[in-house]
Amino acid sequence: MRKTLSALLAIVFLIGGVFLCGCNQKTLYAYTESGFPPFEYIQDSKIHGVDIEIAKTVASEMNMRLVVKDIEFSSIAKGIKQDNAIGLGMSISEERAKKVDFSIPYVKDVFQYVIFEEGALETDQDDMVPIEELRGKKLGVQKGSSADTLITKEKDGLFQDAKVRRYENILTATQDIGHSNDYIVIDSLSALQITDNKVGLEAKRIKGLPSESYGIAVKKGNTKLLTNINNIVSRLIEEEQIQKWIEIHSTTSQDL
Ligand code: GLN
Repeated sequence: MRKTLSALLAIVFLIGGVFLCGCNQKTLYAYTESGFPPFEYIQDSKIHGVDIEIAKTVASEMNMRLVVKDIEFSSIAKGIKQDNAIGLGMSISEERAKKVDFSIPYVKDVFQYVIFEEGALETDQDDMVPIEELRGKKLGVQKGSSADTLITKEKDGLFQDAKVRRYENILTATQDIGHSNDYIVIDSLSALQITDNKVGLEAKRIKGLPSESYGIAVKKGNTKLLTNINNIVSRLIEEEQIQKWIEIHSTTSQDL
C-alpha cells in the first residue's frame, strides 16, 4: 500500500514537474537575419525587435517555446522546412510565395530607400531620389532581399548598368558607403533607423518603385500554423500593437 502510494505520488510529481517546467512544450523556430532594425537587431548580445515580439506572441499563444535562429537572409525561405518554423522580416512577393506561404500583411506601404553620404545625391521636388541618379552606380543591398531581386532584374532597365554589391548584413554594408559601394538600397523603416543619429548619412525614398508588405512565412501548405498566425496578427493590428512595437523598437535600436 505504502509502495503504491509513493509510486502514485512519484507519478503525480513527474507529471506536475513536466507541466511546470514546460518540458512538454513544442518548440517554434523563428528564422531571421538580425541586421534589420527596428524589426530585428542585436542589443546586449540578444536579438530584439518588432518581428521578435510578434514571434513571441505567436509562440506563447500556441503554448510553444520560441527559439530564434539568426541566419543569412537569403537562406530563410530554405530554412522553413518544418511545420514548427516561421520566417521573419520578409516582404511578400509572388516569387517567394512559390516556396513558402505568407500570413496576412502585418506592415504595409514599405518603400525602397537609398542611404547615401550627405550631399552625394540630389532629391527632386517631392524630396525623393529619381532612379536615374542610381544608374551605373555601385549599389549595396542585402543578399536575397527584394532590393537585390529588383535591381538585379532591372540592370538593363530601370537601374541601367548598376553594379550590385551583395552583403550578408546591411549594417556592415553601410560602413562601406563610399568605398566598395556608392549607396545602399533597403526598406524605408530600416533605412531611416540606420541613418538616425548617424552624422553624415541620409536616407531618401527612391521615386517610382512599387510598395511592399511584410508577412510571416511558413512552410508551404502549413495551414494550421498559418491560420493561428493570421488570427494573432489580425488581432495585433486591430489593437495597434504592431505600431506600438515599431515606435518602441525605433527608439531602443537608435544607437546601433
Ligand atoms: N524587404 C526586404 C525583403 O524582404 C527586407 C530585407 C531584410 O533585411 N529583412 O527582401
